[in-house]
Amino acid sequence: MKMNTRAVHAGDRKQAAPYIPSTTPVHFSSSYTYASVETLDRVFGNEIEGYAYARYDNPTTAALQELMTSLEGGHASFATASGMAALDLALRAALLERRKKVLSANALYGATIKLLMNVFEPFGVETQFIDICNAGAVQSAIDNFKPGVVLMETISNPLLRVGPIDKIAEMARKAGVALIVDNTFASPLLVRPMELGAHIVVESLTKFLAGHGDVLLGSITSDQEHFETVRSLIRTYGPNAGPMESYLAMRGIKTFPLRMERQCANAVKVASWLRKHPRIERVHYTDDPSHPDAATIARLLPAGLSGAMISVEIKDAARPEIFAFMDKLKLIVRGTSLGDVHSLVLYPAMASHRDLAPKQRARLGIRENLLRFSIGIEDAGDICADLEQALE
Ligand SMILES: *Cc1c(COP(=O)(O)O)cnc(C)c1O
Repeated sequence: MKMNTRAVHAGDRKQAAPYIPSTTPVHFSSSYTYASVETLDRVFGNEIEGYAYARYDNPTTAALQELMTSLEGGHASFATASGMAALDLALRAALLERRKKVLSANALYGATIKLLMNVFEPFGVETQFIDICNAGAVQSAIDNFKPGVVLMETISNPLLRVGPIDKIAEMARKAGVALIVDNTFASPLLVRPMELGAHIVVESLTKFLAGHGDVLLGSITSDQEHFETVRSLIRTYGPNAGPMESYLAMRGIKTFPLRMERQCANAVKVASWLRKHPRIERVHYTDDPSHPDAATIARLLPAGLSGAMISVEIKDAARPEIFAFMDKLKLIVRGTSLGDVHSLVLYPAMASHRDLAPKQRARLGIRENLLRFSIGIEDAGDICADLEQALE
């Protein structure tokens, strides 16, 4: 079945007869009991499927997890309290029996850099940052640094670079290194890293998948090799998703392919409009034939689905001009998120990359005149009209 169909059906109607809810209800119960202790014993022993305690499993969350595996591929998924909790879990599971070294893309979500530097490094995990789009550099770092894990994002934040996941997966597998991909900016409609050879894929469901700006949630999908480890870790330290959030995410995901198609189509129109505007110096968008990773994009992303993130450099704009422009926006929401039904704008130098020194930002190519947009499902003409009046 196609993703549009699976997004609506996967995970639902799991309850046994006599009556079956058409969609999965919210199950608020921290523990479960059975008519006989023997059954509970078999549930505890993983001999039969069932529920015992909410940190182990919850029927609403289990439905969401089945849905995520259906969209992502891979062996199994676990829903977590946030995208960051999923990344934490992914790194722990992959590093457990490997060298405590991470080879990481240098263009990463801000909190992921903090996770590596402030949480993992003090526990003895060394990280080397690298330009993940340079396959030759990745190979020599795998050979020389000898990491246990390679960590990358499918589409990087905020400059929207696309690394060769398929080639890196091959290099990683040859060297016995685990590849973790954060697929949040792309979403499984565009790229399914498990199919390209990744060992573990992480999504912030907070963004495109749940899509309505009302939930904080993550998911981790793993291959069979890492499944038991991930399950054992989540059951031990409890970064689980709650049933209410799982319900909201599942409700959101039913329309995810529809929304994402519309958001991608809108982004193409908005990017092309922005390129023609005299106040715009540069537009970073993944449909650009002169994009530095155009060959990788053509290989990995479906035609017409280039994502809904656009970054823009405004001519001769410093912080005051950027603030004035953002304040003038009436439709596009100033907010620290992405992937919602409504369009959003973020100033990386103030928000996601605030903690970096200006020099460090400059080295990553993040200039003071750069804004990042997440394009929503509104009418594309209305989005452009809002930009037009704010650029005046
Ligand atoms: C938002 C985001 C995260 C973190 O997800 P949360 O749900 O906010 O914890 C991780 N990676 C990327 C690329 C993100 O955009």
